[in-house]
Amino acid sequence: MRRKSRAFPRVLVTAGPTREWLDPVRFLTNPSTGVMGYEIARAARQKGLAVTLVTGKTALRPPKGVRVILFESAEDLSRILTSEFPRHDALFMTAAVGDYTPVTVRKNKIKRKSTLAVTFRQTPDLVAGLQKLKKHQIVAGFCLETENLEANARAKLKSKKLDYIVANYFGRGAQPFGTGKTTVMVFDRSGRKTVFRDMSKKVLAGKLVDKIILTECTL
Ligand code: C5P
Repeated sequence: MRRKSRAFPRVLVTAGPTREWLDPVRFLTNPSTGVMGYEIARAARQKGLAVTLVTGKTALRPPKGVRVILFESAEDLSRILTSEFPRHDALFMTAAVGDYTPVTVRKNKIKRKSTLAVTFRQTPDLVAGLQKLKKHQIVAGFCLETENLEANARAKLKSKKLDYIVANYFGRGAQPFGTGKTTVMVFDRSGRKTVFRDMSKKVLAGKLVDKIILTECTL
């Protein structure tokens, strides 16, 4: 399906991990390096598109010519997405959003003791929540599964009402964190599957931008 869109689509990319603070010196996070999102931002920019990169804390330098907005927590990211999503034509949601945040953030450093119980509550599903703001935008989610990759990816494509989902293999030699080679399956909204096998994230990023933006938007 070809969508009527702006001549040069504006692309929003989220990347990197969230941080959920427990106390003033500790947070819960995940090993996302942000490489996939930064490479997508770079590839989209190199194809002449206007790009906003919304990023958690990473060790990476943002690509030149890209607008950058920083987030820490899932709540920050939610706020940013609410204001930025309507102004863009496509979203690549590569950010690794933590599913839990502490119910209370302690004011003072938690004292060392033999056991520690912390109660977490679920964070909202940000990309699913964007459904209510969605007009013409194309939304691509990313997932990483340790089991039943295809079934879980297909379920997320539906439950999060995504146009595409990019499913990363994990385990059995596949290491999706960082700069190594990766293999992914991409499912579109009608369930069609494309596999991109054993390629660098840089190469994969170019292919994803071509597949998701250039086939959907009239340039
Ligand atoms: O973690 P999960 O596999 O559910 O992530 C799938 C997609 O959903 C990713 O694109 C991720 O950025 C997004 N997500 C989200 N809000 C969450 C958890 C994940 O938008 N709370």
